[in-house]
Amino acid sequence: MASAFLAARVIENKQWAENLFSVRLEVELQPFKAGQFVRVQLQIDGEAMAKPYSLVNSPEQDIAEVFYNIVPDGPMSNGLAALKPNDTIEISQPAAGFFVLDELPDTKNLWMFATGTGLGPYLSILQQNEVWDKFDKLVLVHAVSYANNLAYQEMISGFSESSQFCYVPIVSREDSTGALKGRIPALISDGQLEAAANLKIEPETTHIMLCGNQNMIADARSVLAEKGLRKHLRRKPGHITTEQYF
Ligand SMILES: Cc1cc2nc3c(=O)[nH]c(=O)nc-3n(C[C@H](O)[C@H](O)[C@H](O)COP(=O)(O)OP(=O)(O)OC[C@H]3O[C@@H](n4cnc5c(N)ncnc54)[C@H](O)[C@@H]3O)c2cc1C
Repeated sequence: MASAFLAARVIENKQWAENLFSVRLEVELQPFKAGQFVRVQLQIDGEAMAKPYSLVNSPEQDIAEVFYNIVPDGPMSNGLAALKPNDTIEISQPAAGFFVLDELPDTKNLWMFATGTGLGPYLSILQQNEVWDKFDKLVLVHAVSYANNLAYQEMISGFSESSQFCYVPIVSREDSTGALKGRIPALISDGQLEAAANLKIEPETTHIMLCGNQNMIADARSVLAEKGLRKHLRRKPGHITTEQYF
């Protein structure tokens, strides 16, 4: 519905690596919860196209920021990458989605697993005091193909100043100092992730958020099921909350 979209002016379209960007937008966002997404609308070949993107910014900031990668032949992501400062696009209001703190049960430790641009919602969540108050330990696991896709290092270093927080980067296609090598499900299964974070993944103390591609989510859920962790539902509390991008 056209009236649900607001004009947004491009402030910056920052390139992190080949095919990896964050666009910052000047727009008056309605209140939202960290972890939610908006639909971004572009005019492509004279037609409006809108797709969902998680907000990286915290609800207190008066901008919108989206972390995205170019998908080969993807009309929307290529359209985003072509944006220049002062271009005007549209974003849906209000933001939506259930990948938010309010939906998580009370437990001790929170593990946040992301593949690629699935990092975005966690950066918004981690900028809120609420998550630091709600959990004893926060573990952010970011899995990428190449080390130069480990974006937002400066913000993550800020979180790392707290002993409550642990960051575990994973790089699958090259060796990278300080990062684990491989894929999230295998690294859960063989105990390397628990060793890196010095924290157990166990149903009594753990909630897991999974964000990114469907293969990671499905395979991580299978290995977590072997440890006794199951999908969290409002009517049947569990341990795993997911946001599937594709
Ligand atoms: C709730 C939600 C939130 C999302 N938030 C983000 C976000 O914050 N950042 C972001 O980059 N994307 C996000 N996405 C995906 C995004 O909406 C688009 O699907 C993506 O940008 C590709 O659009 P496209 O038109 O360029 O390519 P399409 O033509 O739609 O995609 C072509 C193929 O590329 C694959 N693909 C789709 N997205 C990706 C991707 N990100 N990486 C690798 N392969 C992909 C799929 O297999 C798809 O079939 C989100 C999706 C959902 C459902």
